[in-house]
Amino acid sequence: MKKFLKNYDFEDYFDSLILSRGKNYYKENRILDIWWQDDLVTAYIDGSEIYRIELRVDDKKLNNFHCSCPYSEDGEYMCKHIAAVLYYLEENEIPQLEISNKKEIKQEKHKSELSQIYDEMNYKLRKISDRNGYVNYYNGRYYVNLINNVSHYIDDFIESEEYNSAFELIKYTYKFIKNTFMDGSNGEFQESLYLINESASKLLYNDEYFDIFLDYTKNIASNNILDDFSDAPLHAFILYVYDKDSAIKAVKILDEIELNTYGIFVNQTLDKISLTYDFINKDAAIKMCYENIEHCDVKELLIKYLKHDNKIDEVIRILKE
Ligand SMILES: [Zn+2]
Repeated sequence: MKKFLKNYDFEDYFDSLILSRGKNYYKENRILDIWWQDDLVTAYIDGSEIYRIELRVDDKKLNNFHCSCPYSEDGEYMCKHIAAVLYYLEENEIPQLEISNKKEIKQEKHKSELSQIYDEMNYKLRKISDRNGYVNYYNGRYYVNLINNVSHYIDDFIESEEYNSAFELIKYTYKFIKNTFMDGSNGEFQESLYLINESASKLLYNDEYFDIFLDYTKNIASNNILDDFSDAPLHAFILYVYDKDSAIKAVKILDEIELNTYGIFVNQTLDKISLTYDFINKDAAIKMCYENIEHCDVKELLIKYLKHDNKIDEVIRILKE
């Protein structure tokens, strides 16, 4: 433990309004984590989002500062988060970061972190909802941003091989999205699901979790557990495709899992055709197009492929039909 900035008179450097807000943040115990290493003090604070603050200090003064919030990001202005950390330093000793245990600390943290992440998600959702729990048109961007943050947590779990935490968080987030009461007319639901599917697709590189996630996906689809979004986890398998073998696997899964809603059926067919065309066999894909040509989206795709092959006569013939 160490005390920094003894008798440092920082208050003059701040705008008085920002200073008083910073003081409130400190009093409200919003500093989530703080430590030092060499001359660097790092802190996390619960603002409108979780922000990271870095301060370069010596015995007597602050030499440099940075906060990840929009107000201070370019390093020009001292924000309320920095003020809060300075108030904290004025009254508290802080622990040193132990580098050797960094990974262990991280993993330990991840275990207890899940419920903290759920709390954070619900807290943020409440903040952007009106009193009926509705996320209005103007807050749609914030919602996608919220889900984007969650996808980073999932990626972190996967990176540190906390696969079960990643899987739990993915499942939680699908339900969270399904239960969100929102306008969604700017594609917020689709974007949010895409972000989670992208993270889920990384989980599929682990063979054990590939099977676990597949069982989960089948269960969601056959019991319609996520209502209109019950096909969502299936898309993780499409995003997972990176070569011919993985494409064959994904097409097989799309064949196995039958979703009966008309719109979803067409999308599934389109996905199968695209994967086949891009990774497996172009002729087979074109054949699949002809077999499903009654759907106009499929017809459009076929025309695109034919144009690509310069088969203009055939394009004209199809358009005339
Ligand atoms: Zn800040």
